[in-house]
Amino acid sequence: MPENTIYIIDVTNRDGVQTARLGLAKLEKTIINMYLNDLGVFQSEFGFPTTGHEKNYIQANLELARMGVLRPIRLEGWVRAMAEDVEQGVEATGVQHLNVSISTSEQMTQGKFAGGKTRETIIDMMAAAVDKAKALGVLSVGVNAEDASRTDMPFLIRFATAAKQHGADRVRYCDTLGYDDPFSIYDRIRELGEATGMDVELHCHNDLGMAVACSVAGARGAIDAGVDAYINTCVNGMGERAGNADLLSVLLAVKKSAGFAGQYKLDPRVDLAKIWQLAKYASYAFNVKIPINQVGVGDNAFAHASGIHADGVLKDRRNYELYDFEELGRGDPEIVETGREIVIGEYSGIKGFRNCYEKLEIEFSSQEQARDVLELARYANVTKQKPLAAAELRFIAKYPEQTRKLLTLTP
Ligand SMILES: [Zn+2]
Repeated sequence: MPENTIYIIDVTNRDGVQTARLGLAKLEKTIINMYLNDLGVFQSEFGFPTTGHEKNYIQANLELARMGVLRPIRLEGWVRAMAEDVEQGVEATGVQHLNVSISTSEQMTQGKFAGGKTRETIIDMMAAAVDKAKALGVLSVGVNAEDASRTDMPFLIRFATAAKQHGADRVRYCDTLGYDDPFSIYDRIRELGEATGMDVELHCHNDLGMAVACSVAGARGAIDAGVDAYINTCVNGMGERAGNADLLSVLLAVKKSAGFAGQYKLDPRVDLAKIWQLAKYASYAFNVKIPINQVGVGDNAFAHASGIHADGVLKDRRNYELYDFEELGRGDPEIVETGREIVIGEYSGIKGFRNCYEKLEIEFSSQEQARDVLELARYANVTKQKPLAAAELRFIAKYPEQTRKLLTLTP
């Protein structure tokens, strides 16, 4: 097996929240970071350090990292590749890991920036952004080539080489429009890795239904070139337009498929058994149902109806199941309340609140503490406008100070 490893950088809290018509409250983004950490994801692209309303959320999550709660996951912010943005983002939040982004294709450099930009300007801007990050003590910098899949290879190699010379740690190959196929991306990533010796991030969109296939094919290109691969994913395949590469599908493709299982190394920290809770939570938070046929976590992923299949799977699950539902954390019965239910809302009172927490077996040391947590739960409800999930109620009770901070919005 090659030495190089495939890591996951999840971008649900950045690309996922850019999805049209959808979004997440800051508390929901935080809970997703907690679940990603439990799952063993290497890094969460957790927000926008230059955006005013993200500031307190980012600071609160970095505080949780310092407390050892959001650890070992790395929390990284996305900024435009402009020295001013890097400076502003780092000063506002204290973020220590960054990805800086700029378009590299002829289409976008001419078509997006007013008056057009030359190729040289693109490299200069990126280099100045990386220099600024390094000067400010940022610990790791990824450089994003937006629309890399429509960028000519000589320029892409020049761009990545310059990034490396300025101290960047990785180059992100963005298939922004989902234009690559598994064969084209394999060839291009292999060439990029071999020419630069730089670790590569794969950022694939699903416009042609190939985001997962392109992600793993690109990762293979990186490993075969002798560098590490970092696949960008979103929980439940959320993300702009047709979405990003689905987190679980990528993990299963690397762990279970014919050409990867036992042949390419996945970050050993990944614990698949945590995916079920995360997928369910993200579905609730985004308010988007998991499709019945979703890989691994859909209702039908382990359902069998036809006579031959049902008989076959009962004799030996391997007849019709490639992997086990237990591996994904599925199989426990779920209790659904069918009678009276007390939920926490923005106008809840202390009695109902205590009832909710008693069910979660959480106790408060004093009436004062209970009232304080109730107040936070009410505010959380104002930002979410839906009943709080058990994971959120637990978080609020356990980390009231961080909750207060991330709920604070000052326009
Ligand atoms: Zn994207």
